[in-house]
Amino acid sequence: MKAAVFAGPGNIQIKDIAQPQIGPQDVLLKVKAVGICGSDLHTYRSGLYAFPSQIMGHEFCAEVVEIGPAVTGIGLGQRATGFSASFCGECYWCRHRQFRLCPHLFETYTGYGRAGAMAEYVKIDNAVVGENLFVIPPTLSDEEGATAEPLGTALYAVARTKPSGDDVAIVIGAGMIGNLIIQVLKTIPVKQIIASEVSASRSEWARSAGADVVINPRETDDLLAAVQSVTGIGLHHFGKGGMADIVYDTAGARETFNDSLGFVRSGGTVALVGLPERPSEVNVSRIILKDIRVMGVLGSMIPRGLEYLERHAVHTSHLVTHRFSLRDADRAFKTLIEEPQAMRVMLFPD
Ligand SMILES: [Zn+2]
Ligand SMILES: [Zn+2]
Repeated sequence: MKAAVFAGPGNIQIKDIAQPQIGPQDVLLKVKAVGICGSDLHTYRSGLYAFPSQIMGHEFCAEVVEIGPAVTGIGLGQRATGFSASFCGECYWCRHRQFRLCPHLFETYTGYGRAGAMAEYVKIDNAVVGENLFVIPPTLSDEEGATAEPLGTALYAVARTKPSGDDVAIVIGAGMIGNLIIQVLKTIPVKQIIASEVSASRSEWARSAGADVVINPRETDDLLAAVQSVTGIGLHHFGKGGMADIVYDTAGARETFNDSLGFVRSGGTVALVGLPERPSEVNVSRIILKDIRVMGVLGSMIPRGLEYLERHAVHTSHLVTHRFSLRDADRAFKTLIEEPQAMRVMLFPD
């Protein structure tokens, strides 16, 4: 089969490799559509999350073509998404049923330790329907099905922060995840959503997703003042900042963590969603003096993502800006980096 193999930073090569063989507990899927995730981009740019020879891709929709005899609850021809992952079963987190935090998770995760979906076929090891393999409802398109995983991340980010109807939320970065967080916040709904985004087209999408105000940090010389003009001034011990109840940092840029700590009110929440490529310096006293709850977000509620898509609570089709053949995977990655209009870039095996 053809596969897009990560050969090193800035380099993806199309190779002919053996089609995966399944064991009794595995499922083989024929890939219909696969999206490029922000973390794939980190790998492509800096080699951060995968070694050369890795096949990336964990945001996919694929058709079941072979089912191991021990797997139940799914049929040939159905479409599915999911992931391989075997937990060690022995570490602190496995013993406490927090499998997502098992330090061995990514060693066997689809698109990280194991071959991902940027290929004609992808194998899910130890497939358990509802646990790591999820049937995509027939009403969803292939592209929508491939969005269940990033949408699940947005849902998890919002669930983790427990917003209420009185909350003013700021979403920093309105790329794919930021846009989905805005859409999910709209379903709560929170009182007001402010987005901060540098790209004009992403700002437009943020507005149609439900952002009440969109601020472009590059077009304002005092970003905090721009936020304060919307949220009001948040006085705090030894200073003043914004009055946002929750800030979601999906950008993970050098300055955005400190921005978040400035925008949030005392006693508010900052959720870190976007992965930075480098460590940044943080004004820790702000966290203390404002008694801020800072949380990392690592996880995806895929079944809930499928459910939201099925009942049209969230829309994703219009976010696909570029479609490439799998053969042009390298060009697809470069497009996502270089093209300011690019939002969701999808790959399709021929
Ligand atoms: Zn992802
Ligand atoms: Zn473990």
